[in-house]
Amino acid sequence: MNYPTNRLLLVSLAGIAVVAVGAAFWPRHGGAVARPTIPTVSAAAGRVLAAKPIPAPSGRGIGPDSPNETGRIPILMYHSIGDKLSGRSAALSARMGLNISPATFRAQLEAMYRAGWYPVNVRDVLSARMEVPRGKTPVAITFDDARRSQFRYRKDGSIDPDCALGILLAFHAKHPQDWPNRASFYVLPESPPNPVPFGQKGLETKKLKFLADQGFEIANHSTTHRSMRNMNARQLQKEMEGCVTYIRARVPEATMDTMALPYGSAPRDRSLWNVLLTDAPAGSAGSSPRAHYHNRCILLAGGDPSFAPCDRRYDKRQIMRVGSIPGNIEYWIKGMKRGSGPWRPYVSDGDRETVTVLASQKKKLAPAHLDGARLVVLNDLPPTTKKKASPRVAKTSRTEQ
Ligand SMILES: [Zn+2]
Repeated sequence: MNYPTNRLLLVSLAGIAVVAVGAAFWPRHGGAVARPTIPTVSAAAGRVLAAKPIPAPSGRGIGPDSPNETGRIPILMYHSIGDKLSGRSAALSARMGLNISPATFRAQLEAMYRAGWYPVNVRDVLSARMEVPRGKTPVAITFDDARRSQFRYRKDGSIDPDCALGILLAFHAKHPQDWPNRASFYVLPESPPNPVPFGQKGLETKKLKFLADQGFEIANHSTTHRSMRNMNARQLQKEMEGCVTYIRARVPEATMDTMALPYGSAPRDRSLWNVLLTDAPAGSAGSSPRAHYHNRCILLAGGDPSFAPCDRRYDKRQIMRVGSIPGNIEYWIKGMKRGSGPWRPYVSDGDRETVTVLASQKKKLAPAHLDGARLVVLNDLPPTTKKKASPRVAKTSRTEQ
């Protein structure tokens, strides 16, 4: 399957459109795509074997559902679910997938479930030692901007079954064993350009606490939602600090240790990307008590399914997300076929102490990313027939990269 360039282009254009007309309607957000450059495989990939893998027991029994912990991980990006909009903003939001219907969201959850996906928080898929049940593909569902349609109480005090959270809670109730309450909410604090998180004044603390209590992730989407493209270090720090301070004052237990770029727009000066990760003094540990914030990753606002943490291309400063432009999420649920193809998904071995990779995929592995886990290689290669290699033909292996 080739990469759907048309989809990237659409999302990209949509992002530009929203930035251009952003002042016309709240919220001023878009799905700007910042697709990272994906390096090609180098000969160095062969050094993976130096990590002393546990020998593969045999090639028998390896199939589409075998563990494959170098596969892709879908991180999905949502904004509004079933917002009542009208006019131009309604049409634009619908076209860009910034406001999808409750029915569409429910259908997508069903399709994810049927595909063997399993919900996790973003902060839980940043290490090779992640906890996902055997045979499952982790999916991180993310919501940006703390919009009202993500979490809405009704007048009688119940959670609206048609808001994003209501739909997620109902899906968990239907599948209590294999669909836990996990999703990541990239929130904005109340500030001059923003309403209270989730848009119901007086209920914001109750909502934030509820999310944390249920196991959902509360994370940083900046303070003002201004583009960070041309910000300096102090401005970036203020954007990160303001959100953390506001949320922690209401929910001290909120983890607040991942962030999503407003508009997906990273600082032009790459040396400032680390400022978004932490304001700890240089040379100190990221968890320094002197730090006001510590982010374990930076999320973009578009792209492909993400790289696994042990993939050599994994970069915590550029984590891709799949946007909800119409048809896109359905496209990837179908396209990430197990067992074959360039977008084969991560399938867990169920053991956080081991990283299980297929021999055919091990070129993707970075031993330095194993995070102390043991490497297991399953031999899925066809039996080799001995053939005299021609010294004049340099054969390049172009597996999925
Ligand atoms: Zn946003």
